[in-house]
Amino acid sequence: MRITMIGSGYVGLVSGVCFADFGHEVICVDKDTSKIEALKRGEIPIFEPGLEQLVADNVRAGRLSFTTDVETSVAASDVVFIAVGTPSRRGDGHADLSYVYAAAREIAEHVKDFTVIVTKSTVPVGTGDEVERIVRETNPQADVAVVSNPEFLREGAAIEDFKRPDRIVIGLNDERARGVMTEVYRPLYLNQAPLLFTSRRTSELIKYAANAFLAMKITFINEMADLCEKVGANVQEVSRGIGLDGRIGSKFLHAGPGYGGSCFPKDTLALAKTAQDYDSPVRLIETTVSINDNRKRAMGRKVVTAMGGDIRGKSVAVLGLTFKPNTDDMRDSPAISIIQTLQDAGATVTGYDPEGMENARQVIDNIAYAEDAYSAARGADALVIVTEWNQFRALDFVRLKSIMKAPVLVDLRNIYRHDEVAKHGFAYTSVGRPSSD
Ligand code: NAD
Repeated sequence: MRITMIGSGYVGLVSGVCFADFGHEVICVDKDTSKIEALKRGEIPIFEPGLEQLVADNVRAGRLSFTTDVETSVAASDVVFIAVGTPSRRGDGHADLSYVYAAAREIAEHVKDFTVIVTKSTVPVGTGDEVERIVRETNPQADVAVVSNPEFLREGAAIEDFKRPDRIVIGLNDERARGVMTEVYRPLYLNQAPLLFTSRRTSELIKYAANAFLAMKITFINEMADLCEKVGANVQEVSRGIGLDGRIGSKFLHAGPGYGGSCFPKDTLALAKTAQDYDSPVRLIETTVSINDNRKRAMGRKVVTAMGGDIRGKSVAVLGLTFKPNTDDMRDSPAISIIQTLQDAGATVTGYDPEGMENARQVIDNIAYAEDAYSAARGADALVIVTEWNQFRALDFVRLKSIMKAPVLVDLRNIYRHDEVAKHGFAYTSVGRPSSD
């Protein structure tokens, strides 16, 4: 199959290279010239484990190429994926579909023979209808089938997720697309990955329902963590105790500073907005959104309390700035609000992240950036772990104690136990656990 991927970001690039690895001929397009130039030089614009090698292998094999020229690539393709961003629209929280619609127009101008247009971006119910309308309006001669195929990969494990998905959801209203999409995913299909065919609208909703459910699960355990702190229970044991029940499942039950990232915050909000528009509000999700929004600053206040309540003029070291480990993605990271809260209370902040500092500089002002965890901690009145990168899991507490001004550790990811930190003389605060655990 000849495939064009419009948008070569986290999803477009990973999907594109994986399709190439399946044996398809893939052209990744982006309107960002510097991104395409970098990709042509073999430089990967994002941090994603394994991606650089896979791109290099597939470029060398002649199955993967990069361009800014939509016209030639679309005209020569059997399938065109739209994998552009769908951020929150400024002001009202609806998904901003302008990039999707612009891509649809460009595709329509250049399609030749029968072409399957696939929306991989996360889009509200009904977007496929509008993409189809735009294509027909722009080019009444175009022979296309518009399909929904939402992506469920996780940053940090994107290639593995793409190649070994729990399921592949394909929403179509035009039966001609069924065979084409089965062919696109043939290696996974042969490997028994469930291919779930639905209507286009159902498929669009599945993606939002999945993300909203996961966000709700995280938020549930975060509220349990708060309750644990009040009643003297341990949230990790509560998680294990409920997670072993097969109906609940153990994943996404780790208490922490609140969900962030490029998907959950915007997708929960967009689902709530869609549901309101259809006069069928999803109150559980509306509440999830507001609990999570409050939680991020609450975590900043937790640090303030751990430091004795007055942090004016004090210095705080923050380890981990990205919204989760193994990515450089800073979009909606809890670190942003936590650091802002600390600055509002009068502290100065030094941050360190293994991969996210370049992106962090774009979104977090007025902090110092350190070379590693220990230079961040030097002279600090407290050390805060916001993201559980592996390299923070075995910190040298003897060394930390000797370089910090005060031995205070706030572990917002529960990666340590109280006794192993306290024995080095640290005051230790975690999330949802009694102070002795
Ligand atoms: P991204 O911002 O990393 O990438 C989008 C890319 O599209 C950018 O490089 C941009 O320059 C390009 N682009 C925009 N308009 C274009 C056009 N007309 N022609 C060519 N290129 C264009 O975004 P992302 O994180 O890859 O997300 C893309 C979509 O996938 C979103 O809808 C998101 O919700 C969804 N999604 C993301 C993830 C994730 O983990 N990042 C997971 C599942 C689904």
